[in-house]
Amino acid sequence: MSVVVTGAAGFIGRHVVHTLLRRGADVIGIDRRPWVAAPGESVIVADLAEPSHHVDRVLERSAGVVHLAGRPGVRDHRPDIAAGRWRDNVVAGERILEVTPDDVMVVVASSSSVYGGAGSRQRPHACHEDDGLRPLGGYARSKRVLEQRCARRLERSGMVGVVRPFTVAGEGQRPDMAISTWIDALRSGRPVRLFGSGARRRDVTDVRDVAEGIARMLERRATSTVNLGTGTSHRLDHLLATVARVCGADPAIAVEPALAEDVAATRADVGRCADLLGFVPLTDLPVLIARQVAAAEVVVRAEKHVAASAG
Ligand code: NAD
Repeated sequence: MSVVVTGAAGFIGRHVVHTLLRRGADVIGIDRRPWVAAPGESVIVADLAEPSHHVDRVLERSAGVVHLAGRPGVRDHRPDIAAGRWRDNVVAGERILEVTPDDVMVVVASSSSVYGGAGSRQRPHACHEDDGLRPLGGYARSKRVLEQRCARRLERSGMVGVVRPFTVAGEGQRPDMAISTWIDALRSGRPVRLFGSGARRRDVTDVRDVAEGIARMLERRATSTVNLGTGTSHRLDHLLATVARVCGADPAIAVEPALAEDVAATRADVGRCADLLGFVPLTDLPVLIARQVAAAEVVVRAEKHVAASAG
């Protein structure tokens, strides 16, 4: 029997697939966009918001499911975004939670954004899983609805655990995320865009720790909600200085207004992660950024090579 990973073509999905394969699992990845499979990974290209007998059969026979497919992006304000978030974050999630047998463990990716921030940027408090939720913006609200669907599965004694990752960074980070946009701008000599103020703070989590946490949720059948963050919050200007140092660049900074959903600070309470999963994510910022920059350079070189070969 295989473990199914949805969103397998995505940033976190690639790391989760590799982590599970290293642990000896048979992995079936599902995503609506095609990707290059890892050795030993089976691939299904399918849209999870659409009914599919093939996908249903795979879920019914699975040993466990990691559900990462979704429409991320707190700052996405495209005109059709509300419908897209509902479809990909709620409808696709509902299908996974309904079709997967109740005794099969499902780990679902929610988001730290459901907390609505950690208070002031001067003294951010650590957000605990039992805190009341204050989702700001459509993305966070769609994740809260997804969590409510998970609670329904739990109420009928279905196996499900929810993870709330805090700003994930590392190799292959989505191109719309801040660190990726900064690396891209620094490489091409453009000003770096900073929203609101450099004093805003983020708990930045190594994607390898996020993948480890998800694998442990699955293995331990942890039917709980667990933060995947470090408990440490970094000022954005310090984060940017680290990226600039690694890139060897002196950034011109364009400060732009923050949106209402750009919370002042995020910070995870890590107690439950330690108790249930037996570890706490630890981010070595310069090393993490150096890994992400090196991986981005490999991609740029490969793209140049492909372009040169085509020309
Ligand atoms: P990503 O965009 O890189 O990966 C998501 C993948 O899901 C994509 O490959 C996309 O094609 C796929 N997908 C979306 N809708 C689908 C559908 N209907 N059917 C099939 N495939 C579909 O995003 P990511 O950063 O890897 O995030 C993975 C999950 O973790 C998301 O649910 C996201 O909301 C959540 N999350 C991410 C972060 C972060 O910092 N990256 C933080 C908190 C939560």
